Amino acid sequence: MPAEAEVEASNAVPPAIIQEMRELGLFGLSIPEEYGGLGLTMEEEVALAFELGYTSAAFRSVIGTNNGIGSQGIIVDGTEAQKEYWLPRLASGEAIGSFALTEPDAGSDAGALKTTAVRDGDRYVLNGTKRYITNAPLADVFTLMARTGGPGPGGITAFLVPSDSPGLSLGAVDGKMGQRGTRTCDVILDDCRVPADAIIGGVEGRGFKTAMKVLNRGRLNISGVCVGAAERLCDEAVGFAKTRIQFGKPIAEHQLVQAMLADSFTEAFAGRCMVVETAKRYDCGERIIKEAAASKLYCSEMVGRVADRAVQVHGGAGYMQASPVEHFYRDVRLFRLYEGTSQIQQIIIGREMTAG
Ligand SMILES: Cc1cc2nc3c(=O)[nH]c(=O)nc-3n(C[C@H](O)[C@H](O)[C@H](O)COP(=O)(O)OP(=O)(O)OC[C@H]3O[C@@H](n4cnc5c(N)ncnc54)[C@H](O)[C@@H]3O)c2cc1C
Repeated sequence: MPAEAEVEASNAVPPAIIQEMRELGLFGLSIPEEYGGLGLTMEEEVALAFELGYTSAAFRSVIGTNNGIGSQGIIVDGTEAQKEYWLPRLASGEAIGSFALTEPDAGSDAGALKTTAVRDGDRYVLNGTKRYITNAPLADVFTLMARTGGPGPGGITAFLVPSDSPGLSLGAVDGKMGQRGTRTCDVILDDCRVPADAIIGGVEGRGFKTAMKVLNRGRLNISGVCVGAAERLCDEAVGFAKTRIQFGKPIAEHQLVQAMLADSFTEAFAGRCMVVETAKRYDCGERIIKEAAASKLYCSEMVGRVADRAVQVHGGAGYMQASPVEHFYRDVRLFRLYEGTSQIQQIIIGREMTAG
């Protein structure tokens, strides 16, 4: 938390903090212990997500892709050789993993992606552009989805593409609304050649399923981050309300201000309960597609409302960059957009409810 202002000003996480995160093992918290990670349960992982959400999103983003979308594809569907090579490197933070699914013309409809991978002897040749890829400027390896077969999800294959592969280049770093200290950019593949054994799991056509499994777990993690952010915003709002005097008393004593605080606490608490319950069910091996989507939908929308109220409680001070609630207000907007928009979560929940 003391480094938040520095992250905002410099648009970067201080290297000393990244090193400390490495030493704590945070790059591998969800990677199994046998591959050098901490092997946390989902319940433990969301407890950490609550803590990470309590401060600038940039800190969590440094380790987010290694633990989530950048490594889970290898964990769930990788070959033993892929696990042995990449997971210890990702767990230690020696290598940064990134996940490249989205394209200029394929966002929510990721199954329509156009990037091609064509077999040429013992190699695949990849062509296409991936968009808004988190940590791409830092990445050593991309879990990258490309089309090896016909149209639709069944033609998609997941590749492990090292960032120094010939034919791979990066676009300019995107200028974003918030989440300073995190970076996204395009990943451009121009006759990019990778060995045939770069396919995750070694089988063509399984990539979309791999991507969906990875996003399922990631959604729960993001829900936890949203809850942590909402709790921080509540604490900031309460702290401010107790010290700001208007009409002769702290604004915390005005009941309409208390109503805003009460609504925010209630929603943050509901989010926490959803996330913990879903994580417990995940650890028991239950199918949690609907619950993870519901958690992501509720918590990402909830933290937007909580951030808005926190600015309101702060009055004009909340609109100023000197106030921590200002960057949270911008930062949390992303959670409704990535790893499936709110509308996509609604579609998943509705489909799960009505299937069969
Ligand atoms: C900062 C940032 C980081 C990101 N990091 C990554 C990353 O690391 N890797 C990666 O692969 N991607 C990443 N993304 C991409 C992100 O996952 C997509 O932006 C997201 O999935 C939405 O796709 P889109 O932007 O193309 O929007 P679109 O799909 O074009 O959606 C536009 C609007 O239409 C709505 N919509 C679309 N289809 C439907 C429908 N069927 N029914 C109802 N409404 C619909 C959407 O909900 C949305 O409101 C990142 C994005 C951002 C902004």
